Amino acid sequence: MSIKENLIKIKSQLPQNVGLVAVSKFHPAEAVVEAIKAGQNVFGENRVQEAEKKFAQIKKDYPGVCLRIIGSLQRNKVKDAVKIADAIDSVDRLELLDEIEKQAAKIDKKIQVLFELHTGEESKSGFADVQGIFQALEKIAFGQCPHVEPRGFMTMAPFTEDKNLVRQSFVKLREAKEECQKKFPQFDLSELSMGMSGDWPLAVEEGSTMVRIGTAIFGERDYSGGEKN
Ligand SMILES: *Cc1c(COP(=O)(O)O)cnc(C)c1O
Repeated sequence: MSIKENLIKIKSQLPQNVGLVAVSKFHPAEAVVEAIKAGQNVFGENRVQEAEKKFAQIKKDYPGVCLRIIGSLQRNKVKDAVKIADAIDSVDRLELLDEIEKQAAKIDKKIQVLFELHTGEESKSGFADVQGIFQALEKIAFGQCPHVEPRGFMTMAPFTEDKNLVRQSFVKLREAKEECQKKFPQFDLSELSMGMSGDWPLAVEEGSTMVRIGTAIFGERDYSGGEKN
């Protein structure tokens, strides 16, 4: 099936209030353009360099396109990430939040962030618990990150056949959101980025507002040219 057909199929199954992030990592700019021509305008990339290479031109050609960074981010990549992206969905430590604020302030850009929570046994990325996210939100609440706009949360479920474990992971994120929203009513923390090609229907059942789908749109990734990430 073509990218366009894949998009049509997924969108027909996705509730209208759930956003679709097309994860284009490891796929060429041509594939992104094909998706744009089929009506898709939100994309996710997990490596900053690759994102820049593809999206610098694409964003010029298609100004409505929104790019979200969804992969774990090293501090020295934040400057470029802030420049190219509209949102960083993988904020997983306070140090990263500080660096995003610093770099966004330099270019006077407001950037949306999601806080990544570690909810599965196998996945290692994300804040270890909701306390860390409280601290991050406190910082923002005290006015220390005026260029950062907190919008919600992200997680990756463990890669397992055990649907209960996957569901537990999504439930954990939803509960973290509810806890944070109660504590910080001044922010709109409604976004729950959860669900990928293999598990998104379950994520939607548990309240996902934004699924991140790569393979089911663009096909299998070819890792032969670089490091798997
Ligand atoms: C690659 C990736 C996805 C998409 O995975 P698929 O299984 O190809 O849909 C989603 N989220 C993150 C964080 C990713 O790195």
